[in-house]
Amino acid sequence: MAGLYIHIPFCKKRCLYCDFFSTTLLERRAEYVEALIREIQARQHETDEPIRTIYLGGGTPSTLDIRDIQRLLAAIDAPEAEEITMELNPGDATPEYLQALKKAGINRLSMGVQSFQDELLHLIGRRHNAAQAIDTVHWAQEAGFDNLSIDLMYALPTQTMAQWQADIEIALRLGIQHISCYGLMYEEGTAMTRMRDQGELMPIDEDTENAMYDYLCARLKDAGFAHYEVSNFALPGFASKHNSRYWDGTPYIGVGAGAHSYIGNIRSWNPDDLDAYLRGIQDGNLVRESETLTDQDVYNERIMLGLRTCQGVPRKAIQTDFSAYITKGLLRETNEGNIVATQSGIHILNRIIEDLMI
Ligand code: SF4
Repeated sequence: MAGLYIHIPFCKKRCLYCDFFSTTLLERRAEYVEALIREIQARQHETDEPIRTIYLGGGTPSTLDIRDIQRLLAAIDAPEAEEITMELNPGDATPEYLQALKKAGINRLSMGVQSFQDELLHLIGRRHNAAQAIDTVHWAQEAGFDNLSIDLMYALPTQTMAQWQADIEIALRLGIQHISCYGLMYEEGTAMTRMRDQGELMPIDEDTENAMYDYLCARLKDAGFAHYEVSNFALPGFASKHNSRYWDGTPYIGVGAGAHSYIGNIRSWNPDDLDAYLRGIQDGNLVRESETLTDQDVYNERIMLGLRTCQGVPRKAIQTDFSAYITKGLLRETNEGNIVATQSGIHILNRIIEDLMI
């Protein structure tokens, strides 16, 4: 089984917290789609395994019109694809667009909602409002989507626990199947980091951030969602198949500017520069950088990615001494003999992972 990731780097407006590779040069979409089709056709058989999951991510894939989505999907040779996800900005959705996506073969939507509080959406520079997000979920359901995910963010400046709790309740009332939640990170070079450094906004304190995360985990568990990865929660049967591949080491092919691929211990990546990518495809000499993972790299990735999941890492596969973390209640052993992070352990997971790497 393999996955195919298609990167659509276009955004109508940059969000203030974002450090992903994206561009507002929407006028380059047509030539980009042509380049993507060429890259898909050239590379989709790089792994012998059939493509079972397809993921259109960004950037903002919903900046593409429906004809471009149809052309991209038509270029893919994946008759056995079982999950075809597209990320969607609620600001782009209309009932007609959602119906057309469903008809085109998209069977899972991941919506960048982030918050149901208009003042917080404005603060972080999102271009949609809460009403649009709610309408989008309803329109998607009416269009027949029965596998919907939304992204929510916590630890936003000025965000209160009451606002966060309200966001979770609204999400639960919408009847969606999957929720991804991320604490705001102040990434280098972003507008929000500059605003923090200039004293224009005050980050949430660590205790409140941890309390928000703990509330989220408890409330979603109560509502029947499995906490299958640090940031991801799903009703039974609705864990993201595509993203689970990243965590369990299954091969994936990434096409588009900045996209990464992982096939047989070799990781490669396209240039995260629109011009370099388009020129490379047009001239037939796209330069992809790559690295071959050593046994040590593979081990460290297994620790890093495995400890983020509810499966954890088999005890016997761990080469370093982790007993102190068990004693402190930060890691625990499951009945199957796997080591997983406890709720308190997740708060300092990066530190634990670093310690367990070789
Ligand atoms: S829409 Fe997504 S990729 Fe684009 S700027 Fe906002 S967070 Fe970044």
